[in-house]
Amino acid sequence: MTTSVQPPQRLFQDTLEERHRLFVLRLAQLTACSRQPDRGGYDPAALDALIAWARQGVSDAALALQRMSLGSYGVCEGCGSDIPVGHLRNRPEASHCVPCLRERPDPAATPRTAPPRQHPHRHAEALNTGDPRPWWAA
Ligand SMILES: [Zn+2]
Repeated sequence: MTTSVQPPQRLFQDTLEERHRLFVLRLAQLTACSRQPDRGGYDPAALDALIAWARQGVSDAALALQRMSLGSYGVCEGCGSDIPVGHLRNRPEASHCVPCLRERPDPAATPRTAPPRQHPHRHAEALNTGDPRPWWAA
């Protein structure tokens, strides 16, 4: 047995905790916008979509962290096989392996690469743009 290979929990815990924190902040910011008379400059439908996206992100990250604490992280909930590390690297919240995702399109398990695109001039920094800056520093 080798000790040099770390289980996925160790590799992705920091990432997931950070993503959870970012989604919580983003959700709080969007919710604050929704309570303003002008909705923070957002189109109402776009704001609703963004709030739903952020809420889903909070939920996905929280569930993944919960699976970590339960010891079931990185195991496909559909077929019980290990989810490839490369897939977890792209989507650390993943609860299903790719074949199961294809068979059973679950909105909560579908990879999302970007949030709905709205208002590029404002609140536009997404979590997955590849921009190394956090969205609040842009
Ligand atoms: Zn599977």
